[in-house]
Amino acid sequence: MKIVVTVKLVPDPNAEKKINAQTKRLVRSGVETVLNPYDEYALEAALQLKERAGGDSRVTVFSMSPEPLRETLRKALAMGADDAVLLSDSGLEGSDVWATAYAIAAALRKLEFDILLVGGLTDDSSTGAVPGALAEHLGLPCVTNARKIDVTDSGLQVERETDLGYQTVHAPLPALLTTALTFGEPRYASLKGIMGAKKKTIATTALGELALELPVGTAGSKTELRSFAPPPPRGKGRTVEAADGTTGAQAIFEFLEEKKLV
Ligand SMILES: Cc1cc2nc3c(=O)[nH]c(=O)nc-3n(C[C@H](O)[C@H](O)[C@H](O)COP(=O)(O)OP(=O)(O)OC[C@H]3O[C@@H](n4cnc5c(N)ncnc54)[C@H](O)[C@@H]3O)c2cc1C
Repeated sequence: MKIVVTVKLVPDPNAEKKINAQTKRLVRSGVETVLNPYDEYALEAALQLKERAGGDSRVTVFSMSPEPLRETLRKALAMGADDAVLLSDSGLEGSDVWATAYAIAAALRKLEFDILLVGGLTDDSSTGAVPGALAEHLGLPCVTNARKIDVTDSGLQVERETDLGYQTVHAPLPALLTTALTFGEPRYASLKGIMGAKKKTIATTALGELALELPVGTAGSKTELRSFAPPPPRGKGRTVEAADGTTGAQAIFEFLEEKKLV
């Protein structure tokens, strides 16, 4: 079984995020780059599937990122991925969701896979739009929010999490899946894994090898970022003082009524 996992390299979620006022892009320099946390769950799912399938199963990690960030992918290799492919090209700068998904899909067409595992969301841009766009470009069934994945004779049986409970879905292979955070904690890289990752391959590909029919980068983007603003600071709030529970409940009710919430 061949599994590909998409991994976005994002600024450390714990670091303070700044926007460059001129380019309106996230400032990435001076901030540590890490694997997008959701993608670690997708990678964990891939590694578990590989372990269960055995044989010559392989997990390849794919990322569209600037070349200087390539070594960040070693963590995925240390966790257990067999190899990595990096799509890197200055012509990708300024790509919006459409252009990003179009370029990633073209690069993925060059890789053979039975299962494409994609994180549900990124920690920086957080649109959650890339998985659906990739499935559309690649003509794959798209099963989101998977918390349990089983390979069957006819494809996949997936238990997916919804707001109302769990659904069991069947899909033929090849298929695209996103993982729920309840799938299971991503594993830590062992010392052996970290040492072994140094010898694993990170192949690089560029736009010239993809023979794209449409432009990407700023020219190929269908959206334009007009402005970027932090949320307004929170107001002081109101303290409700009450002598006992009954008058307190009444005061809270009147407050909610005033806000037209009840
Ligand atoms: C006008 C405009 C210009 C932009 N310019 C830039 C820019 O110059 N540089 C820049 O970095 N961003 C830029 N962005 C942001 C960029 O479009 C998004 O980061 C990108 O489309 C992915 O969207 P997302 O992060 O919301 O992914 P989501 O849809 O939230 O991601 C879901 C999953 O898709 C996969 N995925 C997403 N992106 C990648 C990736 N790059 N590689 C591998 N897997 C991936 C991951 O598995 C991830 O968990 C720009 C956005 C706009 C609107």
